[in-house]
Amino acid sequence: SFFGLPHQVPHERVLIAADAATGLRTMIAIHSTARGPAFGGCRFWAYENDLAAHHDALRLSQGMSMKNALAGLPFGGGKAVIVKPKGDFDRAALFAAFARAVDSLQGAYITAEDVGTTTADMRGVQALTPYVSGIPREGAFGGDPSPKTAWGVFVSIQAGAKTLLGRSDLQGFRVAIQGLGAVGWHLAEFLHQAGARLVVADIDAAKTAKAQAQFGADVVSVETILAQPCDVLAPCALGASLNAASIPQLNARFICGAANNQLATLQDGSALAERGITYLPDYLVNAGGIISVAREFRNEGEEGAVMAEVSRIADRVQELLARIQTSGRTPAAEADVWAQSLLVRA
Ligand code: NAD
Repeated sequence: SFFGLPHQVPHERVLIAADAATGLRTMIAIHSTARGPAFGGCRFWAYENDLAAHHDALRLSQGMSMKNALAGLPFGGGKAVIVKPKGDFDRAALFAAFARAVDSLQGAYITAEDVGTTTADMRGVQALTPYVSGIPREGAFGGDPSPKTAWGVFVSIQAGAKTLLGRSDLQGFRVAIQGLGAVGWHLAEFLHQAGARLVVADIDAAKTAKAQAQFGADVVSVETILAQPCDVLAPCALGASLNAASIPQLNARFICGAANNQLATLQDGSALAERGITYLPDYLVNAGGIISVAREFRNEGEEGAVMAEVSRIADRVQELLARIQTSGRTPAAEADVWAQSLLVRA
């Protein structure tokens, strides 16, 4: 439906804006402002069609509501998508037009980076609206959220290893990473430093070659990464990688990665549980970046305090794993119930 996703809290509103002069076509989905202004990044992507873009905006913004609620942030969930123009375009002008669309919402939505957008893009947005974050400033905390996201995923892997597998360290732990982009690369660094063995894949061969050289990572094809025998699988590319086709082939003990919307459907969460693979929900473990940009937006905190707050994601992973022992739900269903209980007006 245009109004939201099946069996979920419906969206509050979606702004569809176009600008002929720059080629901008954007959808800004505000899922919930119950906890505060809707906060979530902007994705710049060559969508197959407008409906695919709309669906992505709905899914991503709902995930942001859940993520911000579980992270205890005073923000609701929103997300913007910009359909990448097919021909030539002026990037600065396009993001200026996007900034005007964001500004028209008068603070109901706050944007930041996501897949396909950069700190330079957000700096351009900032020239036209105050409702933006993720911008490095001289002498102040802030900027690229991806190292913080990677740290949150890393501490979640540590928590999962301890609680699920009784491991007190990651020495020799085998981790398969799908996607070595901004987050996947930092995650690989943290894991390598902790003594983990890495198996990696990316559509960009330069990135995997670098991981092989720097971390001694095994490189496999993008077609086979999900099926690699490993302790933990870390999806760090795009969404819906855990689906009816991939789940029967998985060879992991548990799943913990940065990508948003890893499950194609909620039923895929059950399919994983049936296979005995514990799925640590994406929006629980990948909140490090939003914690960082939210702090930056509120102009509070410094690096150490933000890292400490991101590290507390590990406590919530342990709480989730304790909750499923009593509820009998899958981790994905339990996280949904937990997050929805927090989507209430203060
Ligand atoms: P990115 O664009 O920098 O990295 C994505 C990487 O995945 C790229 O290197 C790309 O080449 C690779 N890739 C694409 N398709 C692939 C495939 N089929 N197999 C293997 N590799 C593939 O993006 P990012 O910022 O690192 O984000 C990664 C994921 O994490 C996204 O789903 C994003 O929404 C999510 N996420 C990011 C942040 C953040 O702070 N950047 C925060 C929360 C969630």
